[in-house]
Amino acid sequence: MAAMKEIPYKIYLEENEMPQAWYNVRADMKNKPAPLLNPATMQPMTAEELGGVFCKELVAQELDNDNAYIPIPKEIRDFYKMYRPSPLVRAYCLEEKLQTPAKIYYKFEGNNTSGSHKLNSAIAQAYYAKNQGLKGVTTETGAGQWGTALSMACAYLGLDCQVYMVKVSYEQKPFRREVMRTYGASVTASPSETTAVGRKILEAHPGTSGSLGCAISEAVEAATNQEGYRYVLGSVLNQVLLHQSIIGLETKAAMDKYGIQADIIIGCAGGGSNVGGLISPFVGQMLRGEADYRIIAVEPASCPSLTRGKFAYDFCDTGMVCPLAKMYTLGSGFIPSANHAGGLRYHGMSPVVSQLYHDGLIEATSVEQTKVFEAATYFARVEGILPAPESSHAIRVAIDEALKCKETGEEKTIVFGLTGTGYFDMVAYEKFNNGTMSDYIPTDDDLAQGFAGLPKVD
Ligand SMILES: *Cc1c(COP(=O)(O)O)cnc(C)c1O
Repeated sequence: MAAMKEIPYKIYLEENEMPQAWYNVRADMKNKPAPLLNPATMQPMTAEELGGVFCKELVAQELDNDNAYIPIPKEIRDFYKMYRPSPLVRAYCLEEKLQTPAKIYYKFEGNNTSGSHKLNSAIAQAYYAKNQGLKGVTTETGAGQWGTALSMACAYLGLDCQVYMVKVSYEQKPFRREVMRTYGASVTASPSETTAVGRKILEAHPGTSGSLGCAISEAVEAATNQEGYRYVLGSVLNQVLLHQSIIGLETKAAMDKYGIQADIIIGCAGGGSNVGGLISPFVGQMLRGEADYRIIAVEPASCPSLTRGKFAYDFCDTGMVCPLAKMYTLGSGFIPSANHAGGLRYHGMSPVVSQLYHDGLIEATSVEQTKVFEAATYFARVEGILPAPESSHAIRVAIDEALKCKETGEEKTIVFGLTGTGYFDMVAYEKFNNGTMSDYIPTDDDLAQGFAGLPKVD
């Protein structure tokens, strides 16, 4: 028998081992995700219709259910090389501290200035916009990670970047805002006077602190009203999940290199892009009958779209200007309780992740935020990295699974996605440290209100 290779703390791929193409899991899915619908006609969105809002090449990727591999253009691969491959880390210290026979690995995506995996899609979307000869892009940002990633990518390519930032974050996260401005983006607090939809909302709700749904509506309007601009989105869409497959492809390549076989793969789920990207190559194997894994998507108990939502067509934004997507959703009017601090607050879920969950290929679970911050703090003290609250949902479940192994004595291999760092989330950490963080789980009545707003689609 060949001697086992010793597993290093951090597995980095060589440059020539990095993926040259993204993997499109839709090609291997028997049940494809349902098409986006035009809210005016309730018919599937055509490439032409989508092209008014999104870049041409990205529309092609959005609609491509057939090609398993889509080459990553050289310019994007060159950018990736500045911060990729990201390390696959064996959490030896965490295993030791937990006294578990489980082997724990995490794929760390926080090693770039924007601090999260979002840069993987930001550079791709900015590249295709530039390639189409556009002047700039518009987007929304809530907590600020996506806006930061996009402003970095646009600065690199010399593209104008206009960010509509939810007003409450704009005021409470001034440093996030300044990072974006440092990278040359213009940042507008939303709702604003600069768009018709913003003015309308301000008139109806003077002094409102804004919402993600409203910022999306403003960003879409800004894109369609300016010559040479398109709108870009940081999660949920098929194209974003495709770009994020780089996470899973690298993870799998690193594991194959050392003969590591995963039993459980865990990711946090907001709009579904990181978990979808991480699991794509592994789900591909399952769909082709080559391997079997236990895959767990983790969401907040206060925004439980997979575990308690409905699988239905819904609006992607509160303003109801975007196409309808078939997904697990809490209704586009759903807003998580005000004490929810941990991110992952989107009402819906990627149609790909939703379909995989519906077909029983992946599991989902929800966790309460005090338990999430407990895990975050534990992890920070043991492994050194200060995790983003979003990522800490996956840490929580990885720790819980490792503790189960301790009871049963099973030596399972657990892999989870550590999507980013939490330096801009210290207000949430402060609440936890002061013992003032609380949990709120929506009641069935709370959820019924959101479901009541679902559009009727036959
Ligand atoms: C945005 C974000 C998420 C959630 O988004 P997905 O599209 O579900 O991946 C998770 N972690 C971090 C650090 C983020 O910035």
